[in-house]
Amino acid sequence: MSNDQWQGVWTFAELKDGKLRNVSLELISKGRELADILEEELTAILLGENLENMAHELIAYGADKVLIADDPRLKTYNSDIYTDIISAQVFERKPEIFIFGATYIGRELAPKLSVRVGTGITADCTGLDIDIEKRLLLQTRPAFGGNIMATIITPESRPQMATVRPRVMEIGNRDTARKGELIAIPFIENEKSFRLKVLKHVKASSKMLNLSEADIIISGGRGMGSSEQFKLVEDLAEVLGGEVGASRDAVETGWRPYPHQVGQSGKTVRPKLYIACGISGAVQHVAGMRDSGLILAINKDPEAQIFKVADYGIVGDVKEILP
Ligand code: FAD
Repeated sequence: MSNDQWQGVWTFAELKDGKLRNVSLELISKGRELADILEEELTAILLGENLENMAHELIAYGADKVLIADDPRLKTYNSDIYTDIISAQVFERKPEIFIFGATYIGRELAPKLSVRVGTGITADCTGLDIDIEKRLLLQTRPAFGGNIMATIITPESRPQMATVRPRVMEIGNRDTARKGELIAIPFIENEKSFRLKVLKHVKASSKMLNLSEADIIISGGRGMGSSEQFKLVEDLAEVLGGEVGASRDAVETGWRPYPHQVGQSGKTVRPKLYIACGISGAVQHVAGMRDSGLILAINKDPEAQIFKVADYGIVGDVKEILP
């Protein structure tokens, strides 16, 4: 089949606790840009329960169409059922581009779908663009352990699929006057559908889950000195109602577990306030936090790189300043 038969940009609209995740709006905003360059429609695909308001929200942020599978049995994510429903739509409607959040769900669902529909996938992109002459999606992501940025294309197979890290793309404007189309799609059930059963939900520690969406993050680095002194970062986070982040060195030293790592090989964050304590400001750390609203750095070395990206800097000892 010729690639010309595949048209339009699709995004997967992911929910958390029955609400649209921020990354779903980030994808819609980026998807709108890509669709405008290609002069194609933007479609979001939304699975779950009680979806109508959320579908209108996706239209307000830029979707032209929302494909909706609204069924109580879809309330909880199930990779078998989701793959069946979405792959049927892909075969029927043939999108040219399909993007997902690089979340726990997106990282499972997108590769499974790509195998089902017989295409490739670029995981964990930090940039997406279009080569308009060749009508190709340019998928940029760190490669070779983060030492270079690679731009990957999918010249042969369709759709061109990618996952995108949360908080990398900006959310665009909301326009409730925008018009779009809601299209109901069928719930597909077969003998495989219920081989996975969710018995109960166990809430993970909010400190481990909310880093990418936190408004305030206090991060500690090697300069915190010890695991006991790292507690000063946790105390400040508690007082300010923020989350705790860490540099890779602080994670490798064992002061914080990996889900707290901020940076190129950790999480990308965009809080309103980021406080870096005893962090030197290596490029790989800065890559994950430079888009924060306001950056405050505390470091005893006045020449530390972190002061180059900080809005405010305090030169001094974290052990004295943090308390
Ligand atoms: P250091 O560089 O050792 O800095 C410690 C800082 O604390 C210094 O500036 C020092 O002046 C200051 N200090 C010391 N004592 C005090 C005190 N008492 N009071 C105040 N300040 C003090 N790093 C990440 O963070 N995230 C990543 O995702 C990441 N990915 C990477 C990927 C690759 C491929 C590579 C090669 C590296 C990556 N790194 C990453 C590592 C990165 O290059 C740095 O090594 C790391 O960020 C340094 O961590 P740090 O700032 O805590 O430690």
